[in-house]
Amino acid sequence: MVQGIGFRPFVYRIAVKRNLVGNVRNLRDSSVEIIVQGDENSIYSFVDELINNKPPLALYEDIIKKEIKKEPNFTKFSIDRSSYEQGFSNIIIPPDICICNECLKELRSPKNNRYAYPFNSCAECGPRYTIIKELPYDRRTITMSDFDLCNRCTSEYCDPISRRFNAQTISCANCGPELQLTDNKGVPLPTNDPLSLTARLLDEGAIIAIKGIGGFHISTSAIKSQSIERLRNNKRRGKKPFAVMSKNIETTRTFAIVDIMEEDLLTSHARPIVLLAKSDQYYLSPLISPNLCNIGVMLPYTGTQYLLLDNLADSTLVMTSANYNSEPIIKDNEVAINKLSKIVDYFLIHNREIVTRCDDSVVKVNLEKPCFIRRSRGYVPSPIQIRKSCMKPILALGAELNLAFSIMAGNSVYMSHHIGDVEGVEAYLSLKDTIGHLIHLLNINPEVVVCDLHPSMYTTRLAYMMADEHKWSFMQVQHHHAHIASLIVEHKLDEQIIGIACDGIGHGYDGGAWGGEVMICDGYHNERFGHLTEQPMVGGDLATFYPLRMVAGILYRCAEDLQDYLYSNTDQFPSGKKEIELMLEQIRSGKVPLTSSTGRIFDAVSALLGACYNRSYEGEPAMLLESIAANGEDINIMPQIKDEILDTTFLLDFIYNNRNKFRIKDLAYSAHSYLARGLGEIAAHAATCKGIKTIGFSGGVAYNKIFTKVLDEEIRRQGLKLLLQTRVPPGDGGISIGQAYVAHLSILDMSN
Ligand SMILES: [Zn+2]
Ligand SMILES: [Zn+2]
Ligand SMILES: [Zn+2]
Repeated sequence: MVQGIGFRPFVYRIAVKRNLVGNVRNLRDSSVEIIVQGDENSIYSFVDELINNKPPLALYEDIIKKEIKKEPNFTKFSIDRSSYEQGFSNIIIPPDICICNECLKELRSPKNNRYAYPFNSCAECGPRYTIIKELPYDRRTITMSDFDLCNRCTSEYCDPISRRFNAQTISCANCGPELQLTDNKGVPLPTNDPLSLTARLLDEGAIIAIKGIGGFHISTSAIKSQSIERLRNNKRRGKKPFAVMSKNIETTRTFAIVDIMEEDLLTSHARPIVLLAKSDQYYLSPLISPNLCNIGVMLPYTGTQYLLLDNLADSTLVMTSANYNSEPIIKDNEVAINKLSKIVDYFLIHNREIVTRCDDSVVKVNLEKPCFIRRSRGYVPSPIQIRKSCMKPILALGAELNLAFSIMAGNSVYMSHHIGDVEGVEAYLSLKDTIGHLIHLLNINPEVVVCDLHPSMYTTRLAYMMADEHKWSFMQVQHHHAHIASLIVEHKLDEQIIGIACDGIGHGYDGGAWGGEVMICDGYHNERFGHLTEQPMVGGDLATFYPLRMVAGILYRCAEDLQDYLYSNTDQFPSGKKEIELMLEQIRSGKVPLTSSTGRIFDAVSALLGACYNRSYEGEPAMLLESIAANGEDINIMPQIKDEILDTTFLLDFIYNNRNKFRIKDLAYSAHSYLARGLGEIAAHAATCKGIKTIGFSGGVAYNKIFTKVLDEEIRRQGLKLLLQTRVPPGDGGISIGQAYVAHLSILDMSN
């Protein structure tokens, strides 16, 4: 990555410093060509600095050095812009980059002419992906084109020694975007200093929508539970956790535990939200992430955010993506004022247009490695390289939840930013738009469209339509196959592995609801080897919202006093006694869909242990169970396996009968351990059968720290190696990359 990140000005500076002449230019293939002429030692030291002192965002895949025999006739060092005018074939679009230390210093220095200027940026920092209308990346193709440079900015832009030489986002208070604070109807408040006023209002408990890089955040105090409760009520958001933004690492450490890798992630240029364990000194409002042992924290990444936190009495704010219901994050001022006026008290807006919405990325550290929950702002659309070049460009749409799509061409696969749950029309339209925009930006014309095997997902229907409209080939990939393939892509594997895919639910080859699978997979071919017991989901989807329904279905035939137990929990069923009767009747009739989902087993255990009876957001019962299990001990329930099926009825029955005998947290931990060891054992058996040494683990359960730790121990105990995903989300947000890869391999296979 050497284009659009201030790379040529950097080369210019280190060349001129050594009196070297020559030039630097961007090439079509997204590489950079540098010609230098001069004293031999200077050239060596130039190359040395090029390698060892590169701009923070530059990434080198290869450096090719060549001696030019015929001496070119240079009199100075220059930046050649000519080839910029032509199209690119394998372009790298830089991601959005947090404000750099130099720019931050200026912002905080009263004597600097950019003092307190919230949109300060330079050639090495600032928004990129979210403001690009088309390529090449240039002032006239980004939304900063709305702002004409003042004389001072122009001279910096043209001065090769300046940090802002060729910086496309350059601006200052005289010529750049402006902040404006309005009331909840969009009427501007009379103030010369909107930032200080915003800070004061936040300190007083106001709820304020703040326009950022990739969209709006909704912010309020992280200390005042009253404000957070009001926000939850206004937003009709049950218990789903909010993220917070903390002034710096030191502040973060006052309420959370931060290890070295977490600190690296928090302070990285991508500035993701990092899920951290709450510390014993945790003092922020308990309503931020109710009953969970962790909290999502990010550090500021724009001038506005830094200035706001500098002005605030408290040094942590709730900072959650602003969206309406489950619609995509809001990016435009008018839409925000229209949709959020009943949710927030004020708007802090600016007049720079956002082209592409982009949520904050979310990551956690699992087994000492980063694990992406959401790969979005700061990371997209940087491509991931694949082993064999792709013969036909492929568009893969992913599944339905936490959706991100992928475009594969050549040796690269570009994952989109987080689109969200595509269950409604707004998200569906946003998905369609974004696909069009990214295809246009990358200048790639897909010939194949891939989607999930599920017949009635929005994305499956969209894939059908697109294939029909554009005469593209159409392909479907089984959900868990795609999960394992996404792991194979990221590790550039070329051999068969055993894949463990554990998640909520994915459509199986047999039409069943799968989700606790052991597979044999080489990327293209995939075979189901083992799984969890197929358990009744009483009431279908209802069972995911009221996990006692899972308990009832699983234990109906073994727990004699089950009915008494259910009736003693009548309050946990929205329609009470009647609902229980109807449910029991359904079970008796045997007409109930089955699932081998790991998520549903966690849900059932969570309800059985009293952690969660009513799911208010995806993954809640399992997350609450993990939080309870965090300090638990293993009571070693022996995994029961027959015909490569791990018996989950045995587990539930054990917990049911012993729920008053052991500590809740030990039973919670032991349930994790039972499932992890059991699936690990099946995977190890598959590995022995096939002479395979590597086990891959993917699916949403890979976010679970306890499960992953026990599984890793089990796999190592068997003399095998467990691979996890560190760059592609193991959850459904990473599935499109796996789909694209399976399609790519099948095209290769057909051509052979
Ligand atoms: Zn900067
Ligand atoms: Zn200016
Ligand atoms: Zn999944």
